[in-house]
Amino acid sequence: MNVITTVKDFRQTRAGFDRVGFVPTMGYLHEGHLSLMRQARRECGTAAVSIFVNPTQFAPHEDFTRYPRDLERDLRLLAVEGVELVFVPEVGEMYPEGFGTAVVLPAADEVLEGAARPDHFSGVATVVCKLLNIVQPTRAYFGQKDAQQTVVVRQMVRDLNMPTQIVVAPTVREADGLAMSSRNSYLTPKQRAAAQILYRALTAAQELLASGERHGDGLRQAMSEVLADEPLARPEYVSVADPLTLRELAEVGPRGALISLAVRVGVVRLIDNLLIDA
Ligand code: AMP
Repeated sequence: MNVITTVKDFRQTRAGFDRVGFVPTMGYLHEGHLSLMRQARRECGTAAVSIFVNPTQFAPHEDFTRYPRDLERDLRLLAVEGVELVFVPEVGEMYPEGFGTAVVLPAADEVLEGAARPDHFSGVATVVCKLLNIVQPTRAYFGQKDAQQTVVVRQMVRDLNMPTQIVVAPTVREADGLAMSSRNSYLTPKQRAAAQILYRALTAAQELLASGERHGDGLRQAMSEVLADEPLARPEYVSVADPLTLRELAEVGPRGALISLAVRVGVVRLIDNLLIDA
């Protein structure tokens, strides 16, 4: 396994490989990350992973400094998975003095996570653009867990004619339905138990939709009612949106729906979603 910290060394080592499947991460790896790496290796032969907690996608009041980090453990997991290329840059390697470019997708900041976290997706798009240029992967793998991120990355790659194929893989969940996330480690045992309410709210809307409810308001109301049952949960938004434009739907139509929510459990902000075919 090659663990590399500079762009120059990464390019040199990467040149020794043909097809590469790439998984960008912020580390503190869990089964959701590992499933992406397995798919990358299966489909491309060689897997590359980056571990970089990207400061530009965190707002000043957010959790950049206390975001969980455990590089030693991460590297052990990557070795077990047979990952060949690991890119672990310092912040100064990615944003050296004089850095001055941003990839901006203004429409992303109008809805869902973008509306709740101004500038977040510009930070994400810029770092993913840089990482794709550095790694030059055949395919790059992203989790459905971060639904709007997949929409933003696909749009950027299309708009900027980037040659990498974007692959989106299903959300990996704990036994009670909670979507795996590095941030779940912030939860106290009581909060962890309460956090299963997110998946319960999503599945309530999914079942209602399957039983014929097409009204966005009816589905959003159903999610809010489930969340209201959990005193530790403070919903930020519940959404039934078009899967491509991410605009809220009055009626679920032939394109189906992205059902999503953001909920605070204590101070921990959790997001989850289900993508529903028509
Ligand atoms: P992160 O380290 O949180 O930036 O995540 C790195 C990649 O793993 C992103 O593409 C995420 O969407 C994906 N990911 C995170 N959690 C999960 C999960 N529970 N299931 C599938 N993919 C995930």
